Amino acid sequence: MKTLIRASAPGKVNLVFEVGALASDGYHPVNSLYLALSLREEITIVKGQTGTGITIYVHGDSIPERHIASVPTDQSNLVHKAVLLFAEHINQPVPDLMVDINKSIPVAGGMAGGSADAAAMLVAINVFMHEQNGTALLSLDELATLGAQLGSDVPFCLYGGLAIGTGRGEIIQELGNFSFETNWVLCTNSQGLSTPLVFQAFDELGVQGSFSDLTEITKVDSLNDLAMLMKNDLQSASISLLPQLEELIAQLEDLGALRAMVSGSGPTIAALFETEAKANEVAAVLRDKGLVALTAKGESAGARLEAK
Ligand code: C5P
Repeated sequence: MKTLIRASAPGKVNLVFEVGALASDGYHPVNSLYLALSLREEITIVKGQTGTGITIYVHGDSIPERHIASVPTDQSNLVHKAVLLFAEHINQPVPDLMVDINKSIPVAGGMAGGSADAAAMLVAINVFMHEQNGTALLSLDELATLGAQLGSDVPFCLYGGLAIGTGRGEIIQELGNFSFETNWVLCTNSQGLSTPLVFQAFDELGVQGSFSDLTEITKVDSLNDLAMLMKNDLQSASISLLPQLEELIAQLEDLGALRAMVSGSGPTIAALFETEAKANEVAAVLRDKGLVALTAKGESAGARLEAK
């Protein structure tokens, strides 16, 4: 019988994203408050025929076809890199695998879709290698250390929930949950934004802010207070590359968002609403206007095994 393993991992918004000056390693130090959303990527793996390598299929019903088509299925896909890194780390040959990626998170949208794929794959391949080859299971912290080599957001996608990310975003301090639920509308743009280009635009604008104590946020006990604390130092850089984002933010706030903001490096706009019903209503209004709008809740669990 073929072993089938399925794992999922959440996308994120940065409720606070403070960014410092470019460092000599090519990265910017950040002080980030991450929130995992109920939009989750799902990775399914089965053993492939001997010698066929890693074959990747990508699909997803809730995001536009052009997003799906833009995901590479070769060795540049983070999921492929995750398998190679994991096999090297545990000193095992790279397995032949058929990989199915079921995407729910907009691609190149600033919501860590690719990082969630990598996080889900790390969870899946950990179990796969254990079952196929009898290798020892790595702990979540060990997976996060590996994940940091794949992308700055991968460790958070493994832990999920609400957390502070420092360093490049990969050093995670888990926080307790909010005492309330958050309801979001995520409005994607027809164009994606490249994270490095947004950071470059940020450098050119020269607008680094200071870092605040994000642990204070756990004391927030109302959506209105949270809305007031939300900030993203990359927002003006994203808007400089896609000026129409400014109008979309204003439109979402006119439609009743407590706060609308660029998510991470963008261009997805994350808008916080008071209730699920209001978020659904606004998403429907935006869809009627031809925009792609998804709804999600925070907080969501980190990467986890769904089936085996
Ligand atoms: O870590 P990740 O692969 O997602 O980063 C993609 C690119 O984004 C990096 O190569 C770098 O140019 C930029 N980046 C940055 N500072 C960070 C995170 C990412 O400059 N903290």
